[in-house]
Amino acid sequence: SQKERVYNFSAGPSMLPLEVMEQAAEQLTNYNGCGMSVMEMSHRSAEFEEILHSAEKNLRDIMNIPDNYKVMFLQGGATLQFSMIPINLLRKSKKADYIITGAWAKKAYEEAQKFGEIKAVASSEESNFTYIPEVKKEEFTPDADYVHITLNNTIYGTRYPYIPDTGDIPLVADLSSCILSDEVDVSKFGLIYAGAQKNIGPAGVVIVIIRDDLIGFAPKNAPIYLDYKIHVNNESMYNTPPTFGIYMAGEIFKHIKNLGGVPALERINRQKAKKLYDYIDNSKLYSCPVEVQDRSLMNVVFITGDETLDKKFTKEAKAAGLHNLGGHRSIGGMRASIYNAMPMSGVDTLIAFMKKFEAENSK
Ligand code: PLP
Repeated sequence: SQKERVYNFSAGPSMLPLEVMEQAAEQLTNYNGCGMSVMEMSHRSAEFEEILHSAEKNLRDIMNIPDNYKVMFLQGGATLQFSMIPINLLRKSKKADYIITGAWAKKAYEEAQKFGEIKAVASSEESNFTYIPEVKKEEFTPDADYVHITLNNTIYGTRYPYIPDTGDIPLVADLSSCILSDEVDVSKFGLIYAGAQKNIGPAGVVIVIIRDDLIGFAPKNAPIYLDYKIHVNNESMYNTPPTFGIYMAGEIFKHIKNLGGVPALERINRQKAKKLYDYIDNSKLYSCPVEVQDRSLMNVVFITGDETLDKKFTKEAKAAGLHNLGGHRSIGGMRASIYNAMPMSGVDTLIAFMKKFEAENSK
């Protein structure tokens, strides 16, 4: 039960719904009475095909994915998508625009440079990525093959408060740290991708949702695994897919459906984040460096302004059962990742700890 577990504020891999893990544990060695574990099952078996198809069906339902979009369950993490996107989508002008809102956006941008003429149309690096730049339609390269954004910036705790209007240029978005946390209109995007290890399931699966007119443009010499068309035509079964990860993801999609879908999660996520930001903004010891309108619902970044005190905070929090509150190694401070599976009680316990720490450490 949660009593034996810690509150894990890790940015990823991170907490998953306990009920889902407990249920999977019950079925670990004998799935649905078939006498074997999902891990031991042929990916070509009828049982696994059913697992894969219902995972896709449930994801389509909870994200309202339109029929002209294909869903792939791939490997290689979000990082392999930094390569697959330019390889597949630089299909006409070989130009693309990237908005640089953090280290992951920058990695995607740098990788794309290998494949075409790639432009950073805006960046918030000069302010350490504490806000999301606003980019207007006219600022995008008119003949760009796509525009790439990172919708939620895990390290800096920012999130786009708007979806950039790119006109006819397909918008590509990294949703690794916000997928299924709030409602997203899939039809506004050409491609959405997300690593599983935050809101979906165990690491090892990456989900790619692509509009069907963008499939089929990988160059002939592209490595076969990197061609979206291969995966779409083979329904994510060109080779052995990450079977257990897909099974767990499917169980979590079902769980989300039972909870009332993404709108229900969004409501709770907004309450969790508001509680924490309100406390931080009203405290004398802590502050949040992120512009109010651009604050993430998933990754709450805060500092005391004193690095030694930040380290003491993280250490004492861990001793109190609140784990992984240290900020990313590149920026320090603290970060509470409060993904879908973090219960309200985790946020309440964190705030109570923060109050106690503030009382003990203010001069
Ligand atoms: N993009 C974002 C927004 C991330 O938060 C991360 C990892 O935390 C990545 C990409 C990299 O993902 P992966 O480790 O699955 O390649």
